[in-house]
Amino acid sequence: MRILVVEDERLLCDAIAEDMELEKYTVERCYDGADAYERLYVEPYDLVVLDLNLPGMDGLELLRRIRSERPELRVLILSARAQLSDKVTGLNLGADDYLTKPFALEELEARVRTLLRREFVRREPLVQVGGLCLDTVTREVSARGEPLLLTPREFAVLEYLMLCRDRWISQEELMEHIWETDANPFSNAVRMHISSLRKKLRERLGCDPIQTKVGQGYRLAGEERT
Ligand code: CA
Repeated sequence: MRILVVEDERLLCDAIAEDMELEKYTVERCYDGADAYERLYVEPYDLVVLDLNLPGMDGLELLRRIRSERPELRVLILSARAQLSDKVTGLNLGADDYLTKPFALEELEARVRTLLRREFVRREPLVQVGGLCLDTVTREVSARGEPLLLTPREFAVLEYLMLCRDRWISQEELMEHIWETDANPFSNAVRMHISSLRKKLRERLGCDPIQTKVGQGYRLAGEERT
């Protein structure tokens, strides 16, 4: 899952980004509204954490544009504007959630989790596929009931495959939703992480649940098949 944090107070922006990275999300930082708008145009983020008072382009204007051009993108507004009118305007413009500063990072984490879960599995925090169980709240995964230790990237790949289960996912799609913008699309990063992930899964499950098809990509099948 890829998140863009748009916040011009750099310390706060960095604190949020670092916290989200610990939660195993791929996070990019942006300190300017106009810059954010350009990036949103070309990058398929899954969620945007958006401040309202921004240089370059005001957050509400940015939200207005996001809603007309990328209606599916989830937006969580972060603002020091405590006035009810701003909150109402933000929600009317289609923000998915609104958090008033100052706030606790745990609160932001909880809301981000809920928003990212919405599209895929509604309100159920546990995602289960075959012998695997991923807890979207604790950000942990278990195989056959035992905790499975994964690197943040392996976790991110597995989470995406589990949320999109039974659908073929191309290498490009994984790259777009998990890697940062500056990642080299020609690197073999996806293959390397899939390979290390497979090794861990095979050790634990006794089989490899990740299927590969030339030209289609990867798929995590609900039923264990060969
Ligand atoms: Ca600001």
